[in-house]
Amino acid sequence: MNLEFTSEEQAFRDEVRTFIAENHPKELGDFGMREDMTREEMVAWHKVLGAKGWSVPAWPVEYGGTGWTPTQRYIWSEENARANTFMPLPFGVSMVGPVIYTFGSEEQKARHLPGIRSGEVWWCQGYSEPGAGSDLASLKTTAVRDGDHYVINGQKTWTTLAQHADWGFFLCRTDPTAKAQEGISFILVDMKTPGVEVKPIKLLDGGYEVNETWLTDVRVPVENLVGVENKGWTYAKFLLAHERSGIAGVARSKRGVEKLREIAANETLDGAPLIKDFDFARKVSQLEIDLAALEITELRTLAGEQAGKGPGPESSILKIKGTEIQQRLTELTLEAVGTYSAPYYGSIANDTGSNEYAVGPAHAQHAAATYFNMRKTSIYGGSNEIQRNIITKMILGL
Ligand SMILES: Cc1cc2nc3c(=O)[nH]c(=O)nc-3n(C[C@H](O)[C@H](O)[C@H](O)COP(=O)(O)OP(=O)(O)OC[C@H]3O[C@@H](n4cnc5c(N)ncnc54)[C@H](O)[C@@H]3O)c2cc1C
Repeated sequence: MNLEFTSEEQAFRDEVRTFIAENHPKELGDFGMREDMTREEMVAWHKVLGAKGWSVPAWPVEYGGTGWTPTQRYIWSEENARANTFMPLPFGVSMVGPVIYTFGSEEQKARHLPGIRSGEVWWCQGYSEPGAGSDLASLKTTAVRDGDHYVINGQKTWTTLAQHADWGFFLCRTDPTAKAQEGISFILVDMKTPGVEVKPIKLLDGGYEVNETWLTDVRVPVENLVGVENKGWTYAKFLLAHERSGIAGVARSKRGVEKLREIAANETLDGAPLIKDFDFARKVSQLEIDLAALEITELRTLAGEQAGKGPGPESSILKIKGTEIQQRLTELTLEAVGTYSAPYYGSIANDTGSNEYAVGPAHAQHAAATYFNMRKTSIYGGSNEIQRNIITKMILGL
């Protein structure tokens, strides 16, 4: 495995860096994610990339992909992390988009792929239910055929950002008599259809990121079935493999460590910069070492992809280590800002409606919210315990 970029790859990196510097909307700043972002802010960069033809790099070229090599895609994500851009959300780009171009009808491709590429249409994922998370195949939402419609009834939960969604992709049971995995279908639902109700779930960080989605006698045209009825589990699993790739967030964590070092250089302990404290510095260094090891593992996976090997069960290793590092980063940031983060527990930092004076330095204001928010990373995309089960079975062969 050659870790040096070729001169072409370096030229590509320069092109990407210049493009981001010149085109990333200035009003977004370099915050990356903020808990109080509006829909318009969240799609602003997506729209710029859509116009440029760079919003769906991993898609086949015939559907609007860029044809970049895995290394170019790696450079792309590194450069975006460097500039802390808010990347296109995964629900359209890396979840339902690939399912539609792989298994969907020509009508579905023509109708849905352009809106995903441009960032005009917002998608949400209706998989999980109150009684079906890790054990997804036990889902109970039903879709019953009635003439040229399905009638959907049930409850989904944890539907991320469904309050903004135009469309959702839902797993529904179409054959209650079949074995768990065999009677499920993958159905596209216009979120404006009567009977779809989205109710907020408030999270520890005070933000509004996830929802309960209730479906009551929702009539959906049969054309919205993707692929073959009762074969939805195949498409659902295909989608989950896409969901997991990129979840390691190495480039973002590298940028996070830089930021942590800056914070720790400004915070003091016993009159000296915190970063000079032996114990704290050791924890930051250990994090950097683990991150470097993860980066090499990711590059090895990329080299495999370049050689034609798809991401296999090793994506579970990337997911576990990547999310543990993301969480440790937020823990150390919280430790670094100490009590200054306390006024922001359970509330969104920089609440624009507030006329209170901010307490502590600017970098303290997001520390608690981010710490709480990032607890999610070891749960979503298949919990880390489930990833360990996959490693045990698929890699260790136990
Ligand atoms: C912030 C956030 C956003 C999400 N967004 C979406 C979304 O947009 N759409 C969507 O459909 N879903 C979404 N999810 C749901 C997510 O996929 C599930 O939370 C996840 O699959 C875990 O399911 P669960 O919450 O029901 O936990 P459970 O499956 O009930 O698990 C509870 C605990 O038991 C452990 N466990 C369960 N089974 C096993 C086992 N066999 N071996 C070992 N340990 C086990 C789990 O690891 C976990 O610690 C989101 C979740 C979060 C937290």
